[in-house]
Amino acid sequence: MALGDTYGRQLRNLRISVTDRCNLRCAYCMPEEDYVWLPRAEILHFGEIAALADVFMDLGVDKIRLTGGEPLLRRELPRLVRMLAAKPRLRDLAMTTNGVLLAEHAGALKEAGLHRVTVSLDTLRPERFAALTRRQSHAQVLAGIEAVTRAGFSETKLDTVVMRGVNDDELAELIEFGKRAPAEVRFIEYMDVGGATRWSMDQVVSRREMLAMLEGRYGRIEPLAETSSAPADRYRLPDGTVFGIISSTTAPFCSSCDRSRLTADGVWYLCLYAQRGVDLRGPFRRGARPEELAALIADGWGRRTDRGAEQRLAVRERSPLVQLAHLKADPHLEMHTRGG
Ligand code: SAM
Ligand code: SF4
Ligand code: SF4
Repeated sequence: MALGDTYGRQLRNLRISVTDRCNLRCAYCMPEEDYVWLPRAEILHFGEIAALADVFMDLGVDKIRLTGGEPLLRRELPRLVRMLAAKPRLRDLAMTTNGVLLAEHAGALKEAGLHRVTVSLDTLRPERFAALTRRQSHAQVLAGIEAVTRAGFSETKLDTVVMRGVNDDELAELIEFGKRAPAEVRFIEYMDVGGATRWSMDQVVSRREMLAMLEGRYGRIEPLAETSSAPADRYRLPDGTVFGIISSTTAPFCSSCDRSRLTADGVWYLCLYAQRGVDLRGPFRRGARPEELAALIADGWGRRTDRGAEQRLAVRERSPLVQLAHLKADPHLEMHTRGG
């Protein structure tokens, strides 16, 4: 069943955060010293996640991405992967990870039926990684990327958040690294989402700037014509290498956005920028039947008017979306809780 929102965008894509915890402290996502964590008792069990996924699939979801926080911090994650991979209606089951624990788990994830992996990789330089993430795990991330290929995954992606003066001189090096991995590199514009408390517009490197830099190095870059709802615009270098740019800040893709997000404690958000979500854990744990949960979700999606990133474009003097005091009062506003 296809379910349209107020702009006719269909509910197809669900990002499930399996934990709000993380083993890195990326400057664009978790720059603070302390965080308020979701209470453990409220974190959904795997059976609950699988049951909610069934309800979403009844309503047309056929793509699921596991995320976090860092999803590999969730114990026994391959068990959840196996439960989801067994669902015939799911066309795509992917995971986004920072890669730190990937070398340990890549084999088990592949064996459990995960289709694809996206690894976040912002720099090839260990000292930059340490400064950007406040952790010393760069070698583990690189080992994790190698392990993904060795485990037999294909269509691997490497996501890079590009920040001016931090890693914007590494775009070509990252593309070259991607060729060898092999993996398709996607450059993401730095976004002013919840959690990004140090964001400012002058640190954003726009798609246009990225393309100009890469044309300086590679020559003519050809845009690929595509009709999918995927957020990345894809491009081809003269040697045939394909890469993507997710221009979420300067040219957002809200008009075709088919994704929503379920937090680890079962709150459903219809937009990365939404200030409020729909509690599904409460009704689920009180014994709501699948039809009742489906009605709640269908009602929410049917009323969806969100175009968060587009609306932010209209703001003249942009500063971080959510102030620190609000993030502390409601960790659901954090990017690491929503899953990016
Ligand atoms: N921890 C995992 C990881 O980093 O891959 C999964 C969760 S993380 C929140 C998902 C994605 O959100 C990552 O690729 C990260 O780079 C991206 N992200 C976080 N904060 C961002 C920001 N302010 N702007 C753009 N992307 C951001
Ligand atoms: Fe970095 Fe992902 Fe952790 Fe955020 S959730 S701090 S992006 S590794
Ligand atoms: Fe979708 Fe909201 Fe992101 Fe726009 S800002 S693409 S509506 S999640």
